[in-house]
Amino acid sequence: MNDAKPTDLPDQLRHYIGGKLTDSVSGETFDVLDPTTNEVYIKCASGDKADVDKAVAAAREAFDSGPWPTMMPRERARILNRIADEVQAKNEELAARESFDSGLPIRQAKGQAMRAAENFRFFADLIVAQIDDAFRMPGRQMNYVNRKPKGVAGLITPWNTPFMQESWKLAPALASGCTVVLKPAEFTPLSAELWVEIFENAGLPTGVFNIVHGFGETAGDALVKHEDVNLISFTGETTTGQIIFGNCAPTMKAMSMELGGKSPAIIFADADFEAALDSTLFGVFSLNGERCTASSRLLVERSIYDKFVDAYAERAKKVVVGPPSDPTSEIAALVHPEHYERVMNYVEVGKSEGRLVAGGKRPDHLPVGNYLEATVFADVPRDARIFQEEIFGPVVAITPFDTVEEAIDLANDVKYGLAAYVWTNDITKAHNVAHQIESGMVWINSHNVRDLRTPFGGVKGSGLGQEGGYRSLEFYSTQQAIHVTLGDVHTTRFGATGYSDTDPGLAGPGC
Ligand code: NAD
Repeated sequence: MNDAKPTDLPDQLRHYIGGKLTDSVSGETFDVLDPTTNEVYIKCASGDKADVDKAVAAAREAFDSGPWPTMMPRERARILNRIADEVQAKNEELAARESFDSGLPIRQAKGQAMRAAENFRFFADLIVAQIDDAFRMPGRQMNYVNRKPKGVAGLITPWNTPFMQESWKLAPALASGCTVVLKPAEFTPLSAELWVEIFENAGLPTGVFNIVHGFGETAGDALVKHEDVNLISFTGETTTGQIIFGNCAPTMKAMSMELGGKSPAIIFADADFEAALDSTLFGVFSLNGERCTASSRLLVERSIYDKFVDAYAERAKKVVVGPPSDPTSEIAALVHPEHYERVMNYVEVGKSEGRLVAGGKRPDHLPVGNYLEATVFADVPRDARIFQEEIFGPVVAITPFDTVEEAIDLANDVKYGLAAYVWTNDITKAHNVAHQIESGMVWINSHNVRDLRTPFGGVKGSGLGQEGGYRSLEFYSTQQAIHVTLGDVHTTRFGATGYSDTDPGLAGPGC
């Protein structure tokens, strides 16, 4: 029995549909595991098409007949700000649940609520300050944009920092006036339940927010294929994104995809060595390495390569692996035994592809649970699987380079393009390298520090579309163009007296 188990858990986790916690229509449940023991600690309702149909109907009713989509932005913003306050007030409870359910070190789980709350505050501000375009054709026409929420949003989220990931979709979707059906990841359904009380306390109208738990292939699939769902915002693996992309096609849904990554950190010889070391250790070993923007490939200039590898390995050997509830743990338990097995397979593959300089096994003092030491492979060639494929655990590949061109070529030679990190004190080189990297985001002399106003998303296999700032609101909104004649109506009179080549209506017929 794990002492860290939150004491206030319900008998089982349920869907939330039309303002009520409900069991599955089928009565089916699935097991949720404690990642430190892999024992079942709670059951969760397992949704399928019947549950998704009910949830989408509730969201559709709230969209078509409820107050949310047409509410004044200021009024909606007030509710979003109340949501943020409610989220923040749950910081301790959320951290305890998130850490217990997903295996995140407790110190890193703390603060997730603050980030989630900020997402709501940010979009509350944005909708109040929002300006839409208007274009005047003097004396003739006025053309303007009528922004409308897109409709029912299907939100499908992954298991890494699940609550924060959910907030990143919920906040702009709700701010835009959409109603939503959330399908949380099946490995980590526990924290999603907190939204129920948060939204009810904040006064979100009934039916605007719904949850259907369950597996991707059943609940997620039914949501993606549902005719009454207008858009899908998905975060998860690239291969899942490809399936969803295809499944959205028949109903022509809008899609936003935030997918996998294999992000490079390029460390030039002239970089601040210690700062680069700290940042690249944190970048791949924080959040158990289960982070999409992890700096999981380190490309290091040859002249400092040996020194860097030695220093990196020394520090990695001292990274503290321990239970999620222990505040001294820097890495804790990976989320699920299936994922653990996948990561451990990569560690075995890595042993024949690179030189193991730290970690590579379960820590001796943690015989049970999904634990792995901070694992470092050096001299990894570009065609190695551990160089090319996303591992999503505390495993890093280090590769030397000789020239700037080679560094860029190595950075770009993977199917992903989510984030990149550049370390150099040469400002010209930093910008030029950043511009040539195929990724949605680049941090120069910095680890992953988010600015909510900037675009977030990947290129190539890492995603489709970019969210962040007003871009998120664009995704969840339709921009309808309204054209109004101001002066005389100029229409070429077909079927009347014939028309002349100088008729104004001929100048620009629309398509
Ligand atoms: P996953 O693709 O296995 O699952 C993500 C979600 O999709 C889950 O809720 C799952 O149930 C659902 N799903 C699975 N199959 C589905 C289907 N056929 N139809 C509809 N829904 C389906 O991903 P994961 O293992 O939960 O998360 C880890 C992945 O997420 C990593 O690849 C990581 O890089 C990526 N990620 C990306 C970002 C980003 O912003 N780019 C952020 C976090 C995580």
